[in-house]
Order: sequence, then structure tokens, then C-alpha cells
Amino acid sequence: MAEAEPLPVLWTPPSVLADLKARAAAAYPFECCGLLVGCPMAPGDEGPKVSRMVPTANHAANPRRAFEVDPAAHIALLRTLRAQAKEGRQPVEQVIGHYHSHPDAPAVPSARDQAQAMEPGLIWLIVAASLSGAGEIRAWRAIRDGDGAIGFQPMNLIFL
Ligand SMILES: [Zn+2]
Repeated sequence: MAEAEPLPVLWTPPSVLADLKARAAAAYPFECCGLLVGCPMAPGDEGPKVSRMVPTANHAANPRRAFEVDPAAHIALLRTLRAQAKEGRQPVEQVIGHYHSHPDAPAVPSARDQAQAMEPGLIWLIVAASLSGAGEIRAWRAIRDGDGAIGFQPMNLIFL
């Protein structure tokens, strides 16, 4: 029997996860969303690292059941990060993924998430939320499967 490969690791500061839970609870019954900034995995690295999250408005037509990161906020963030890189600021930060909440649903990618996933390598943080507050947070990485479709690989969330 082949040994199961260990899950890829995502390093995250506890403060980011606490902030994510607070935002998911505050947005309930709507989905909150935003972008994850950090360092992608370099060769020989232990895994990508989240340094911070950047909340954005949810532009989905039905924000109870879907999310859409505000595209203007996304572009503004990319410009800021590019300017930082030009200044030579270290560490070089990139948008490595995004987060959103699942009101009254588990922290696993939905069929809609599956349909929305376009970019392999992008990290998806999903937090469950209910009337009583935020629940489980799980990390996923979009990967291209053998058929060329995009799927989600679970990641192991580890505190920095
Ligand atoms: Zn979702």
C-alpha cells in the first residue's frame, strides 16, 4: 500500500485566524471575504506563509450564498505590493490566496467554489459561521487534476 503523502502546510499567524473568525461572525448571515498576503512557497521551503489578510467588500449578487472579492480593492492591493517590491522592501509580499466564510455550512469548498476556482496554486481559507459565531477554519489549495479540471487539496494549517 502506498504511503499517504503528508498534507501541504500553510503557515499562518494566530492573529490572522482570530481576525478571520471575528469577521465571519460579524458578517453572518452573509459571507465575508478578502485577500491573503504573504510569501508563496519557495523551492526547499516548508510551505507558503500568510503574513496578513486584507478584507474587501463582498460584491456577489447573493452574498448570503456566494462571495466575490471587490475587484477594485484587489487591483489596489496589487499596485501597493508592486510599489513595495520596487522599493526593495523585504520580505517580498504577494497575493497568495483569499478567504471567505460559509454561513451555516462547513469549511469545505462548495460546488460554487469549485466552479469559481480558476487559478492553480491559489490558497483558499474557508471559515464556517453560524448564529453562535465562527466555527472551524480550513485551508485548501486549488490544484489541477489529471483531467485539467481544478480541484481542492486540503492543507495543514500551522501557526507561525
Ligand atoms: Zn465557499
